[in-house]
Amino acid sequence: MSDVINSDTIIVGGGITGLYTCYKLKQLKGVNHTISLFEGANRFGGRIETVEMGGFLAEYGPMRFEKMAQPLLMDLIAELGMETKHFAPYTAAKDSDSLFDLTFDESGGKRHGNKLTTLELLKLGILRLLKASDGIMDDPNDPRHWEWWATLDEEYYSYVRNKATYNDKYLFQMGFWNALSLVLSHRAVSKIIHYGTFYHVIHFNPNAAEWIIFWLRGLHPNDELVGIEQGTESLIHELVSRLVSTSELSVSLHLNHRLTALFPQSDGRVLLEFKTDHTTVKALAKHVVLALPRCPLMQLRPLLPEHSAELVDSVIPIPLVKCFFVNENPWWNESTSPQTRASSTPSREIHYSFKKERSGKRGLVMVYGDSPSMNYWKPFVRQKEHLKAEMNLDQGLVEGYLQYLRSNPDNTDVREIKAEAELISCFGIRDWSREPFEAGFHISDLPQMSVKFVYFPY
Ligand SMILES: Cc1cc2nc3c(=O)[nH]c(=O)nc-3n(C[C@H](O)[C@H](O)[C@H](O)COP(=O)(O)OP(=O)(O)OC[C@H]3O[C@@H](n4cnc5c(N)ncnc54)[C@H](O)[C@@H]3O)c2cc1C
Repeated sequence: MSDVINSDTIIVGGGITGLYTCYKLKQLKGVNHTISLFEGANRFGGRIETVEMGGFLAEYGPMRFEKMAQPLLMDLIAELGMETKHFAPYTAAKDSDSLFDLTFDESGGKRHGNKLTTLELLKLGILRLLKASDGIMDDPNDPRHWEWWATLDEEYYSYVRNKATYNDKYLFQMGFWNALSLVLSHRAVSKIIHYGTFYHVIHFNPNAAEWIIFWLRGLHPNDELVGIEQGTESLIHELVSRLVSTSELSVSLHLNHRLTALFPQSDGRVLLEFKTDHTTVKALAKHVVLALPRCPLMQLRPLLPEHSAELVDSVIPIPLVKCFFVNENPWWNESTSPQTRASSTPSREIHYSFKKERSGKRGLVMVYGDSPSMNYWKPFVRQKEHLKAEMNLDQGLVEGYLQYLRSNPDNTDVREIKAEAELISCFGIRDWSREPFEAGFHISDLPQMSVKFVYFPY
């Protein structure tokens, strides 16, 4: 076929997975291997989006990475000459609403114990399911738990994935919600679901083995969370610039090419059809990498091989919304801890940034919601086309924010609230539940497919 783009490999999707695959494949295969990458949107990066707001870098997509658990990403950051910076460890809210007296529940209301945070409850649930630490199984803070946790490695994770059982049933055959309910009271599990300030997503009931491994890694005492100093999106800019500028890495990158169909050919190659604004483009390749979220894969599902289609079916999308507000006279400061006021605001997490300036002070607050809290924020997206963060558009977003996060929530004086609204110099929202993403991140209800497959590639 003459007007068809021919390549050895075609990659569809210009998020971090597609770009990273392209970069590594080219390094591995050399100049004689031709690669074409097609991205449906008018920008690369997909769910990675960093926006400069009043001197702060607002991460509308991913913001924190595990140094030990994401080694490929750490290598990439170093290889591209970027730096990491400290990110606050996973922290639970500590206000009275979110604390829970497990001893009271487990003694049938006879005794009172220490009130535990949702993160402590989660740890305890995992420890009880694995029954491997010598620490006391009523006390998530027994130091022996941490000594044991610090010894965990890939070999142990593989044991959890393939062999670990509870009540003679393999963890990989259970949902995480079901498994936790065997070792914690229903009220305790509900507490984690409602007040947990991190993406435990118990109510989506992901595979127990995989989700336990996720948290064994995430809470590993020797691991550390980091952000990217230059902003996460700088990874994308650097990868793209290396792909287009270095001659021995030459590949063809195409924006605004949306994959609409693919057909296996009799010679073993695959024919792909892309829609651009004006036309249909055809491309042929021996190898095809679909680096796409679940939503477009579902649309292509009838055209996928049965095994791949079944894998796509098992993916659980987790929708997320992020909002940011720059305040010219913030009530918080550098020592305000993440999650302050999170449990009394429609949110899953809240993070505060602060800087002193010659002329005064300035702060940025990030409100991070999953289901159901994100539904409070979603109506504030005004534009039909939502392909990037919407900035400074609906003043209702500021009012919605001040409803919960004004300096003094007890103050109902309308003039003072209006004056506080004027301190918000910049604001924005990104709703990741919209197409083509449908979710901020994805998890699996299938054993052995692993969050690694669909989460940030590590
Ligand atoms: C709010 C939020 C917070 C997150 N936090 C973290 C975090 O802290 N740490 C972490 O590790 N991960 C985090 N993640 C997850 C992480 O961002 C994603 O796992 C990762 O960016 C996914 O990259 P990807 O390339 O696989 O997919 P995507 O980024 O979704 O890229 C897919 C690309 O395919 C394109 N596309 C879609 N349909 C078509 C089509 N038909 N034809 C052609 N192209 C198409 C899209 O436009 C997109 O560019 C977060 C995500 C979000 C949204």
